[in-house]
Amino acid sequence: MGKVVLGVAVGVAVAACTVAALVVGRRVRSRRKWKRVVGVLKEMEESCETTVGRLKQVVDAMAVEMHAGLASEGGSKLKMLLTFVDNLPSGSEKGIFYALDLGGTNFRVLRVELGGQRSDLDPDVEQQPIPEQLMTGRSEDLFDFIASSLYQFVEKNDSVQSPIMKLLGFTFSFPVKQTSVSSGVLIKWTKGFAIRDMVEKEVAGALQQALTRKGLNMRVSVLVNDTVGTLALGHYHDADTVAAVIIGTGTNACYWERTDAIIKCQGLLTTSGGMVVNMEWGNFWSSHLPRTSYDIELDAESPNPNDQGFEKMISGMYLGDIVRRVILRMSEESDVFGPVSSRLYLPFTLRTPLMAAMHEDDSPELTQVARILKDVLDIPDIPLKARKLVVKICDVVTRRAARLAAAGIVGILKKIGRDGSGGITGGRSRSDIKMRRTAVAVEGSLYTQYTMFREYLHEALNEILGEDIARHVVVIVTEDGSGTGAALLAASHSSENVNNIQLI
Ligand code: ADP
Ligand code: MG
Repeated sequence: MGKVVLGVAVGVAVAACTVAALVVGRRVRSRRKWKRVVGVLKEMEESCETTVGRLKQVVDAMAVEMHAGLASEGGSKLKMLLTFVDNLPSGSEKGIFYALDLGGTNFRVLRVELGGQRSDLDPDVEQQPIPEQLMTGRSEDLFDFIASSLYQFVEKNDSVQSPIMKLLGFTFSFPVKQTSVSSGVLIKWTKGFAIRDMVEKEVAGALQQALTRKGLNMRVSVLVNDTVGTLALGHYHDADTVAAVIIGTGTNACYWERTDAIIKCQGLLTTSGGMVVNMEWGNFWSSHLPRTSYDIELDAESPNPNDQGFEKMISGMYLGDIVRRVILRMSEESDVFGPVSSRLYLPFTLRTPLMAAMHEDDSPELTQVARILKDVLDIPDIPLKARKLVVKICDVVTRRAARLAAAGIVGILKKIGRDGSGGITGGRSRSDIKMRRTAVAVEGSLYTQYTMFREYLHEALNEILGEDIARHVVVIVTEDGSGTGAALLAASHSSENVNNIQLI
């Protein structure tokens, strides 16, 4: 009997040891896997590092590239395009002006009434989708369609037959080589448009012909892109506005430059002595940019490799996809996200607004994160610590983006001597320098809708400039500058202001 008891006891002990060994083994393996995932995160954090020192190098590189792009055609990855916009709205404009905003799947028509004094603008706006077949058809069909919509819009508000010529600002957010403030040639289509007979053709001219065909007494008096419209609206409200930045699906910036600094265009004369320059900053590149293996893969797999490098680190089109790539790598390295979800292999499955929603999930159990991982990436039921990891990835990616955008802004300020560094001589501290109030207009949902992005951007501006200088720099959100701004420019470039600068 005693032997039997002893036998059972030994058996139980052996079984217990085996189970314990299994549990310990699994724990050790799981800890090792977790360590690997943390290693991936750490490596990514290090490659995304944006210390103030590094950001200042980016600032300097931006200013240097701006100089190079202004010095000669093709002198930099920054195109620094002339816009021929030589004055900005001041608030004193009077009259009724129209605008047409074409730059994506929708187009908008606007009408704004200006009373000669700065006031809150309340434009009439109508938006319409562009029928898909018109995006890839013939240019005449597209412009006839737009002209008809404009005709109906004018009819609702004014007399179409009026002998007084109406002025129209045209925001056309595709790359254009501008030849005057109201004319320019399409370099290439982007964003799903592919109307072959339009490439290298005069854009405003094509619209003008359609308006004439329609019998609309309206002149396309300015042709601009969305950043220039944003700067115009910013300046209308605040005369200290010197630059505009768009941070939405893509990113770009423009600013007010002295004509004598535009060396590649000798003999350019404007009565104001200045002109808005469209930087096309999405294509900025510098070896100081903190690049990761994820950025390299994203770029290589994109339809435009080696293009738009800055944009691919900053804008709404890409941030979600960088996060997807990091989650995929972690998922391949371990099973903290369960078996690798096939959705993780699909580019752009995780859109930036959803990434932002995960990042800003403040529920204790991170329920939004759990929901989005399950619904969008097909990753169900992962432990809280793995969900926290996802939030951390979003944070690293967004923080880098916002801080780089801030460095870009300071780069512009440095180029035009508004970063407080100009004139520092021995013994004087930055706070002794008289710094002029400087406003930067910003538009785009990444900035306006994503609180963490906005906060990180402002924090970085403070860090780079120092609080004494940063106090003088204000970032102003301009709602719908891309449309309203074009109408304002049509106003500020009308009759008395127009001096039709041309290349000589
Ligand atoms: P666009 O740049 O196309 O003219 P927007 O300025 O509205 O238009 O920007 C749209 C982009 O902003 C989207 O592609 C998306 O990436 C990003 N976005 C929109 N909403 C949010 C949000 N709530 N949080 C983060 N990003 C957002
Ligand atoms: Mg936009």
